[in-house]
Amino acid sequence: MKVVKFGGSSVANAEQISKIIEIVTADEDRRIVVVSAPGKRNSDDSKVTNLLIALANTVLEGADYEGALQRVISRYAEIQVDLNLSESVMVTIESDLRGRIKNRTAHALQFVDSIKASGEDNNAKMIAEAFIQKGFPAKYVNPGDAGMLLSDEFGNAEVLPESFGKLAKLKDESEIIIFPGFFGSTTAGEVATFPRGGSDITGAILAAAVKADVYENFTDVDSVYAMDPRLVPYAPALEFMTYREMRELAYAGFGVFHDEAIFPAVQAGIPICIKNTNRPEAPGTLVTSTRDTGERVVAGIASSDGFCSISIDKYMMNREVGFGRRLLQIFEEETISYEHTPSGIDSISIILKSSELSAQKEQQVLKRIKAELDPDSVVVEHGLALLMLVGEGMHYALGNAAQATAALGDAGVNIEMINMGASETSIMFAVKELDRVKAILALGKSYFS
Ligand code: ASP
Repeated sequence: MKVVKFGGSSVANAEQISKIIEIVTADEDRRIVVVSAPGKRNSDDSKVTNLLIALANTVLEGADYEGALQRVISRYAEIQVDLNLSESVMVTIESDLRGRIKNRTAHALQFVDSIKASGEDNNAKMIAEAFIQKGFPAKYVNPGDAGMLLSDEFGNAEVLPESFGKLAKLKDESEIIIFPGFFGSTTAGEVATFPRGGSDITGAILAAAVKADVYENFTDVDSVYAMDPRLVPYAPALEFMTYREMRELAYAGFGVFHDEAIFPAVQAGIPICIKNTNRPEAPGTLVTSTRDTGERVVAGIASSDGFCSISIDKYMMNREVGFGRRLLQIFEEETISYEHTPSGIDSISIILKSSELSAQKEQQVLKRIKAELDPDSVVVEHGLALLMLVGEGMHYALGNAAQATAALGDAGVNIEMINMGASETSIMFAVKELDRVKAILALGKSYFS
């Protein structure tokens, strides 16, 4: 059994929806289909989810929302007409939306979630109709009814463990299941959504629940590439990669998946295949727990701006028992999460996302470090970018760090920090944001040209 997820661009209009019907019905193992809300049809277009957020905010402001509502309705109406579906579909969608607005709750985030979730919910109903109209047995399934139970963190919900057992029953259905992504139900029966991009999470949960043979995630690229193809056009397509490589690359800027979205499928050991709705014959990228690293040691190189570091120096730091714990405790108590901690005998740097360190938090942390740890110096550096060289094969191969540092040195890029864990799946280089593109071009040339 395959669980198949189609992202927003794959269900943005009637033409794309016709493609997904062909893709699903070409393989009888594709039994559970997770769909997003209609996405952008071109670069100037709006995602339906964004239109819905605007609608919810207009309602909350107490302003006239009819225009915002019609913008949503017209996206579905266009699809209904182009797919030749019965007009009753539009009656259902419009009354659903008006009902959600009318049943507005006092809790603003909960209300926004109920409006946001309608994007995938109504799209799933319409897509189920489209399958049926073409003569394929299909059935819309409501996530709450099927047992997709979520925490009540509206807009940022997490799946509750009991969901998996309930959702496992979906594998006994005889029709093709059309399941809306992105939302579920709290135990009190309220609609709650995952973070943005959360239809990937729905697909991963269903794949784990029904113990699918594979979780196919259809997007609009042929595969994952070793580097951002907009910067390095000759970056090779990756046919295989491991979960760990995927996580490390997604963390450092690869946009194919939200890096935490696939966690349930990874935990259950379900292979994930990334494929293109517009070119389903392309092999895509298969993500599993291991891969043959003989062919390619480095799977990919990602980069991301938006980091900063706090570097602390203290003579004889290595002899001071508890220094590291007390330092990290300051970050914990100030509720700041950190990313990396490269260190020397008398120095340690904490690398953080800049978004974690407001000016006020920065002052507070510096004050505490100075007062509680008596360092020789504390220096904050803003405007850092991280480069991640990722590959399971690096564990066994010689010279990867040397090749990267030589390439960066030749390009005149100063490396601010290096971090490599014992697992050797990745090497992190911190450079100035201004040097990031230059660094990526140099690494691309060295590894993949
Ligand atoms: N439609 C939602 C969003 O735009 C969820 C998704 O497409 O995965 O974030």
